Amino acid sequence: MRVVLDPGHAYPSANRGGNGYDESLGMWKLCNYLKDILVEQGYDVALTKSTKEENPSLTARGAFAKNSDLFISEHSNAANGSARGAEVYRSVQLPNDQQLAADMSKAISSLMGNTNRGAKTRQSTKSATSDYYSVMASARRQNCPHVLLIESGFHDNVEDEAFLLVDDNLKKIAEAQANVIMKYIPNYVGNTTKPTPITTQNNEQIIWDFLKSKNFSDFAISGIMGNIFAESGLKPNNLQNNFEKTLGMTDDQYTQAVDNGSYANFATDSCGYGIVQWTYSSRKLTLLNYAKSQNKSIGDLNMQLNFMYNELLTYKGLVDMLNKSQSVLEASNLFLLNYEKPADQSPKVQQLRASYGESYYNKYHVVNTTDSNQIVFDAIDTIVQVNVLNSGDYWKNVIKEGKLQYLDQLFLNFSNYVKTHN
Ligand SMILES: [Zn+2]
Repeated sequence: MRVVLDPGHAYPSANRGGNGYDESLGMWKLCNYLKDILVEQGYDVALTKSTKEENPSLTARGAFAKNSDLFISEHSNAANGSARGAEVYRSVQLPNDQQLAADMSKAISSLMGNTNRGAKTRQSTKSATSDYYSVMASARRQNCPHVLLIESGFHDNVEDEAFLLVDDNLKKIAEAQANVIMKYIPNYVGNTTKPTPITTQNNEQIIWDFLKSKNFSDFAISGIMGNIFAESGLKPNNLQNNFEKTLGMTDDQYTQAVDNGSYANFATDSCGYGIVQWTYSSRKLTLLNYAKSQNKSIGDLNMQLNFMYNELLTYKGLVDMLNKSQSVLEASNLFLLNYEKPADQSPKVQQLRASYGESYYNKYHVVNTTDSNQIVFDAIDTIVQVNVLNSGDYWKNVIKEGKLQYLDQLFLNFSNYVKTHN
């Protein structure tokens, strides 16, 4: 299922509360939290803007709804300062969304502890069959089957604003909304096995493991990955952003068109593509032929990794030097200056790419996973013994599966226990 989220307005906006809340910033954060949750659930999620400052027209925002299953424009409300509550607009053309909108409003208002103003519609003054809000009308012109505009609270009300000012509360609103979305627009209809979501999280692990299997050092892997992240966000089907507009194709459309042969200019179009954004015609042609010889999509991650590795081997001594690097920065610069050779190779770019690499190093370079897990497992057993948890198995699985972000909850439980027993 494809979901498009539209963070209302652009930062900084005039839509502010009395205590510093800015609607554009709050909705930017809310949309990103919601995106993370839905991606984790296997949804394909896009935002209508790539920075909080960006301000596409309402029509352009709605146009993102093309080929999507759900479009939501996220807002907070304003009135007279005393009104509070949540309300959810559904399209005048989609009466079947009434219950979805009603449940959405109920979920948000019960979380925020304010008024449930319910499901609403607002028709255009020009046509009773069109929506008043142009962002909704535009999304409907793309035939999107579910279109909502959500108002989560009133930012000019002191109590609602106080709630919206806390990032953790925005996260909770995102969770409440996600639960309603999963109920009405489930991702896996009639299919109980959850497919592996295509997320950069997974790509991260795949790329790390691939380079590890080629015996690269952790410094080298991190340096290479920082560069790949800078080039493509680790996305193998990434078409250089400005060309998405020029060619009128998304990453997916371009990849498909190259794969099925309907687009024949792959090698010669000078558009950066793939994890390291191959651009030159000879390299793109070799990549294309390689993909064909492997019977793989041009956007296949493993194919691209093997191709990149084969290319690296042709740079005399580079693999050796990468592996002899004594830091992520050293490895990152070797990859940047010898292999990637982007237009901007300034110290600033070098630092930035190395800093991306450092984050992979910190995440994946583990001295001895088994030992460090054992220390945490022992701690969990101790916590179970003092009756904070019924069973430690759930948390041990959390650690084994590497979902370390959920450990926050465990530590919260434990610190609450300590507070109440001291
Ligand atoms: Zn708004």
